[in-house]
Amino acid sequence: SSRHQSVSLMSQCGEEQIAGEYTKHYVTLKQIGKGAYGCVKMAYRRSDRLLAVAKFILKEKVGAAFWSDAPDGRRVPLELSLLMTLSHPNIVSVIDVFENDKYFQMVMEKHGAGMDLFEFIERRPRMDEPLVSYIFRQIGQAVEYLHSLNILHRDIKDENVIIDNKFHVKLIDFGSATFMNLEQLLRRMLCKEPGARCTVPQLMAHPWIRQPVNLASYNFQEIVDCDRHEANPEMYFSGSLESPRSNSPVSLADPLAKERSMRSEAE
Ligand code: ADP
Ligand code: MG
Ligand code: MG
Repeated sequence: SSRHQSVSLMSQCGEEQIAGEYTKHYVTLKQIGKGAYGCVKMAYRRSDRLLAVAKFILKEKVGAAFWSDAPDGRRVPLELSLLMTLSHPNIVSVIDVFENDKYFQMVMEKHGAGMDLFEFIERRPRMDEPLVSYIFRQIGQAVEYLHSLNILHRDIKDENVIIDNKFHVKLIDFGSATFMNLEQLLRRMLCKEPGARCTVPQLMAHPWIRQPVNLASYNFQEIVDCDRHEANPEMYFSGSLESPRSNSPVSLADPLAKERSMRSEAE
């Protein structure tokens, strides 16, 4: 077995990547990984000697579709803004982010000894099923969390999962992640070629259609700027013939309606 990593990038892992503010805060140690956008090294924080993992992301290798706005307004790779926003026990967390002209320097927590599942499997190829299940379900939990936020990782594989000595695993490497594809769904629905157009069962199975909706968090009157009688047409069944603009027609079925209507009239 071999890792699916690009070979030509060794030369890019030089002094340039650690330059800037990052170096004031971290001391960079040995390389532990290398991939398409740069490389990954052990590092420790100067202030408290906290061991961490730094990923150096070469700006020029980040595709146009993989940029986003970070919570602080900075333009950063999507990989970075996603990891900064996400919070889940089975997803690696970000400690610090720096940048220089050429690189983003993302400092992550060091989970366990820094072993990934590729190495784990290589060292112990015959696995015990309950243990496999335990590892697999944790990845499932991370994916479930991501899908609940309409995020697709799109690069889940042994190299992108790290494991500690309690078999606790975390998903890393959001370099291929994206948000799920209302746009793609619409394209498939509007496909001119009937054979390629998505079917109703496919449509109904699509994550966009199946995404959770908390109806209790929506209020018709707040979404559509409408009269309270349009929002509560059942008011008319209370038998009142009074003008809908007056205070009085309040259904007994909704004891709070009177209070609400008084509040809305006061505004
Ligand atoms: P790439 O996008 O280049 O594949 P990754 O983020 O997957 O980069 O990192 C490359 C390798 O570095 C991983 O396969 C893993 O072995 C190691 N690695 C990355 N992040 C961590 C981390 N937080 N802890 C331990 N090892 C890590
Ligand atoms: Mg990777
Ligand atoms: Mg990657």
